[in-house]
Amino acid sequence: MEDQMREVVDQAKASFKAGKLKSYEQRCNYLLQIDKFLKEQEQAIRAAQKADVGKTHAEVTISEIMVSRAEVTHCLDMMKSWMSPQKVSKPLTFIGDKTYIQSQPYGVVLLIVPWNYPFYLLFSPLCGAIAAGNCVVIKPSEVSVESEKLVRENLNKYLPRDCFPVVCGGPKETTALLKQRFDYIFFTGATSIGRIVMKAAAEHITPVTLELGGKSPTFIHESSDLQCVANRIIANKAQNAGQACISFDYLLCTKEIQDKLVVAMVKSIETFFGDMQSSESYGRIINERHFDRLVRIKTNTKGTIAIDCGLDKSELFMGLTVVTDVRDDDDAVLQEEIFGPILAIVPVSGLQAAIDFINEREKPLAAYVFSKDKSVIREFEENTSSGAMVANDSIMNMTVSTLPFGGVGESGIGAYHGKFTFDTFSHKRAIMHRKQAMEAVNMKMRYPPFSEATTRRLTSLLFKTQDSTNFVSFQGIGMVLLGLVVVVGALLYRQ
Ligand code: NAD
Repeated sequence: MEDQMREVVDQAKASFKAGKLKSYEQRCNYLLQIDKFLKEQEQAIRAAQKADVGKTHAEVTISEIMVSRAEVTHCLDMMKSWMSPQKVSKPLTFIGDKTYIQSQPYGVVLLIVPWNYPFYLLFSPLCGAIAAGNCVVIKPSEVSVESEKLVRENLNKYLPRDCFPVVCGGPKETTALLKQRFDYIFFTGATSIGRIVMKAAAEHITPVTLELGGKSPTFIHESSDLQCVANRIIANKAQNAGQACISFDYLLCTKEIQDKLVVAMVKSIETFFGDMQSSESYGRIINERHFDRLVRIKTNTKGTIAIDCGLDKSELFMGLTVVTDVRDDDDAVLQEEIFGPILAIVPVSGLQAAIDFINEREKPLAAYVFSKDKSVIREFEENTSSGAMVANDSIMNMTVSTLPFGGVGESGIGAYHGKFTFDTFSHKRAIMHRKQAMEAVNMKMRYPPFSEATTRRLTSLLFKTQDSTNFVSFQGIGMVLLGLVVVVGALLYRQ
């Protein structure tokens, strides 16, 4: 199998070397092909996602298709400026020289995709990798069976296989793939698998982005409008039946708020879904293994099941489940990332106790706070750490392409979305163009024999330190010139 994988990767390397993504026009063409795939395969994507995870019409439209198409458009709109060299400031010593940053593609990227959003989490990084000029080996998740099949059978009708091969399979195939030498690895999945990927990458000193999971906490302050909080929490938690990396994992609030919140959440569920099992707006659990894992959590919790919207293994249906009065760290709901429709509430005495609770645990992918009191939000923001923080909502940060998306600590390494994706897949190469003139001046200062005086002169031109007196930068000169213009202007105006 390793030979087979080597062949695939070697072919992608050859295509990269042949310059198949070198020009702006070639990259645009591949991005447009992705858009074509998303348009032409729309119905097939819906059917695959319905079969895999019962994803609703609205959710497939928004969270798989349109969000991916928007990524294509954003790359097409911005790519020219992202690709152009980025000028940098320099000391006056280099006045005649050019200094800039060149964004260079890494080469061949390995893209490993999870099952929960198998199209968006494939196309979002893929668009940025293409915009940056890379060939990409695509490894969809074997868990989302129908979606994997659709990608395997159709993607290479739109994107050439020699540049963008789709490699399918599970851990065995991915292990063989990870033995190959890639120029970059972009992995989205569980933290435990992220460790395996990072170890494999270390073998070849391959840079990685790891988009991982974790337990995203939420603090609810008593200043909140609890019905609004309940609506937003229930709507988010029900999305893809809670099988989302930035889903609310557990809530922190006082006991009093907890009890009121449960009443508000029951109302939200009734309003949004009525009976959850028959609702068209609610999906299913991905497979029996995950269903059984979630049932185990539900059965073993020592907390109180305050809301239980039902279970039906024959349909892999698990309705929203809210567990209150969770206290012990060894409680099943606090042991692992839930990644399903179970929501735990841990009563705490207030904001500081919530901050302490969060800080005693691994840094999450997202942290949420609900409050109408700005000082509470500020306190939460300044004293916790997570990939992202959202006040009074969730997920919406993902729709803002100027915000980076990624984890910190155990929730991941690196970030993407919008230009961050392009930067992720570009080596930032330092470029300096000097001239062969001024050799006489150079001779004196930088070539042996050295003296204390020449070293002093050279360092004072090159380095600014706390005791620099004659270090001059372009900005410095600019400020002086601006000052002069203002003074002369003022003098002329007075006359
Ligand atoms: P996973 O880690 O099980 O699988 C992800 C990918 O890794 C799949 O393509 C799979 O084939 C491959 N894989 C699985 N076992 C492997 C092994 N032993 N060696 C090499 N490769 C292996 O994750 P999942 O179950 O697909 O997704 C759920 C997890 O992903 C959750 O933890 C969730 O939080 C996380 N996630 C994170 C983000 C994010 O953006 N940070 C997004 C979605 C999901």
